Amino acid sequence: FLGGVEPSPPDPILGVSVAFRACDDPNKLNLGVGAYRTEELQPYVLEVVREAERRMIAAGHDKEYLPMQGLAEFCGATAELLLGKGHPAIAEKRVATIQSLSGTGSLRVGAAFIAKFLPGKAVYLPSPTWGNHKNILADSGVEWREYAYYDASTVGLDLAGFLKSIDDAQEGSIFMLHGCAHNPTGVDPTLAEWRQIADAMQKKNHVAFFDVAYQGFASGSLVEDAAAPRLFAEMGMEFFCAQSYSKNLGLYAERIGALNAVLNDATAATNTLSQMNRIARAMYSNPPVHGARIAATVINDPELFQARSRWNDEMGTMAGRIKTVRRELFEELTRLNPDKDWSFVTRQIGMFSFTGLSPAQVERMTGTHKIFMTKDGRISLAGLSSAKVKYLANAIDDSFRN
Ligand code: PMP
Repeated sequence: FLGGVEPSPPDPILGVSVAFRACDDPNKLNLGVGAYRTEELQPYVLEVVREAERRMIAAGHDKEYLPMQGLAEFCGATAELLLGKGHPAIAEKRVATIQSLSGTGSLRVGAAFIAKFLPGKAVYLPSPTWGNHKNILADSGVEWREYAYYDASTVGLDLAGFLKSIDDAQEGSIFMLHGCAHNPTGVDPTLAEWRQIADAMQKKNHVAFFDVAYQGFASGSLVEDAAAPRLFAEMGMEFFCAQSYSKNLGLYAERIGALNAVLNDATAATNTLSQMNRIARAMYSNPPVHGARIAATVINDPELFQARSRWNDEMGTMAGRIKTVRRELFEELTRLNPDKDWSFVTRQIGMFSFTGLSPAQVERMTGTHKIFMTKDGRISLAGLSSAKVKYLANAIDDSFRN
């Protein structure tokens, strides 16, 4: 009875890993997925995660169901990581937080919430954005549109276009904002630009939906990278925020994250949370516990996070390694072709670099050089080692020339 089902096209990001695994060239390099690798190109489990797991085993927790909202210690901790410990919104119980299935699941619950309680509202996405945003909204029955974000001519932010999009959108629209380390461009507004964006949004009564998937990966500091949502909270603007612990705690497969609604009224927060729980109940009932315990243990522990901040140190090491390969790649590309301005490589932040390679040039990167990357020209520098910089730079230079 399913004879008429057409095959789904491969996922533009996850499909890259499938193609990578199928290739047997020893020089192959996977720069498709944003997953951190060591200099040896191996996956990395953070020391603070290992430490949390040792403590969890010693404590001998059970495997009972969590409530629909998730682990209470985690929900408290994740809102504090977002807004800062002791933030008035938290103290005044104006934040609704539900633990969900990493960033994707949190966005999905948020999209379902919009479909149910804000019907007819469109969500504006930056152009370009993480491809899955469109799937998530479309599958939830939420209309999406695009706002101006990236200026290819400057490889920077199109602030004027962004502000115009805000102004042109119907009053009270929802804008998806990458909290930091914009994917795929690696181009973020400065704090002064965030102020202009927030002012413009406030004037039009728009609501932000922050997607914070890389807290700590832009600056290397978990606190600094929360500046944008904290600014909105400070201005008294209500917003949604999806958080992910895939990258900054390296908990990719644990599926740990949260959806927050930061509101101006405690009753609205209580009611909103009850409806988020209702949505989760029908979608997956309740979230997994292991990753939630790890994140809660790390965030709530003064030694692992707050005082000596071992987590932030490890976060800084990961972000630092990416900055190092950025610089090395910039230097090597400049050596190969001094006539081209390669400074975008070091100007962009986070895990990715948006190279400007055309789809045909990307084809050459993969076909000839066995470098696997997404068709939009994005490379994940989290998957690059210093030892492979020369190989990559040669391939990029060659592909730009052909
Ligand atoms: N948002 C953005 C912008 C992302 O890049 C990602 C991860 N690639 C996510 C959300 C969600 O990832 P996860 O579901 O693993 O938390």
